Amino acid sequence: MKLLCVHAHFDDFEFVAGGTFELWRRRFGPKLRTKLIVCTDGCAGHQFRTREETGRMRLAEQLAAARLGGHEFELLRLPDGRTPREGCLNATPDVLAGLWRAIREFEPDYLFCPPLAADPLAGVHVDHLGVAEAVRKVAYLLNVPHAYTPEYPVADESRSEPCRTPVIINVYDGYQGGDGGSDLGVDVGAAFDLIAEMSWCHQSQIREWLPWVGRHDLSAPADLPAWKETLRQRMRKTARGQGVTADGLFEFFNVTAWGTAPTLEQLEKDFPNLARGASNYIRLRQRLARWA
Ligand SMILES: [Zn+2]
Repeated sequence: MKLLCVHAHFDDFEFVAGGTFELWRRRFGPKLRTKLIVCTDGCAGHQFRTREETGRMRLAEQLAAARLGGHEFELLRLPDGRTPREGCLNATPDVLAGLWRAIREFEPDYLFCPPLAADPLAGVHVDHLGVAEAVRKVAYLLNVPHAYTPEYPVADESRSEPCRTPVIINVYDGYQGGDGGSDLGVDVGAAFDLIAEMSWCHQSQIREWLPWVGRHDLSAPADLPAWKETLRQRMRKTARGQGVTADGLFEFFNVTAWGTAPTLEQLEKDFPNLARGASNYIRLRQRLARWA
């Protein structure tokens, strides 16, 4: 079993799927491989550090967090070796090509990525939206062997191995807010300490940038216990916005048919700690039936 999270920035994963990946690991043990791909260089989001310093710090923080969680890590590279600039990510052909190569190399069973904006009145982060569009657009091409061989030549174009197309899951996106409930809520309370410790690795964000930018209702936490309390409140607020009244700490997901459309039985078998009280099975069941 292989899980891949493709997201825009250093720190996005920890806030949307870090607990779920950990619970998945506890269920599957060493039979599980997990990987994070970040698609931008992390140079932009800071108020007093230079672009160069910010990008270097963000990468080091992300590597530390990935190590804590036991995840493999890759910075997305375009065919020319560059990483897309933060604030400039779009679903351009070179981004599709880079993702195509990276996803095919890992060949995940489940791919987690940000959602498209369902509501044109909702705000977006351009890089989150760019990743969502790129994953959606490249999904069909994952099993098209020659789609990007002009960028990534192969020795023999007359021999091709099939590539499994993953089930593609959208993570919750705070920039867009809740849309009145998600398909799946995972109770991640048992993994909360690890989520807090992984996100705490991103010091240049949670203690410097995020409080300054003021977009996330954060004041700079003094230490890890203070951060845990802030994070707990933040997760409860997200749950309330998703219409969840059940006690607990949750991560939320929507199921797409961008890749392989799953069955509800498969999702229930694979996903750890699904919380019925934080999920919308009625809507999900109808959608899965339409895709079947
Ligand atoms: Zn982000």
